[in-house]
Amino acid sequence: MQVYVEKPKCTGCAHCFDVCPVAVFEMKDRSGPDANNDVAPENDKWKGQTVPEVKTKWENVQDGHKHFQEKYEGGSGGLSVAVQGPACILCQACLIECEGECIVITDDTNNVYHSIYK
Ligand code: SF4
Ligand code: SF4
Repeated sequence: MQVYVEKPKCTGCAHCFDVCPVAVFEMKDRSGPDANNDVAPENDKWKGQTVPEVKTKWENVQDGHKHFQEKYEGGSGGLSVAVQGPACILCQACLIECEGECIVITDDTNNVYHSIYK
């Protein structure tokens, strides 16, 4: 299994980190050295810019989660990195919880799953 986060869309809500039963995700500082420590392709790496549509949608939402904060603290913030993609068991929990709709999973027969926020 291959898993990555499209970093320019990640709000830092940490839902993926919270629900994944096998610890695929870790929350990282946005300007830290390991913010791109997964297999995201070049266009989906974190380069300091959030997709404007995602920012507009989430920046003022008050749901108890920090959005677009530099660091993970108090249960949200930073951004998510899929540091243990091969551990994924395709339970799909993260795929329906991801605010940024930015998780991409490819299974061993090359089926691709994108997260959709519900
Ligand atoms: S689908 Fe994979 S990455 Fe997502 S929560 Fe389940 S095990 Fe974790
Ligand atoms: S659920 Fe999606 S938007 Fe939220 S931290 Fe994880 S990857 Fe980022």
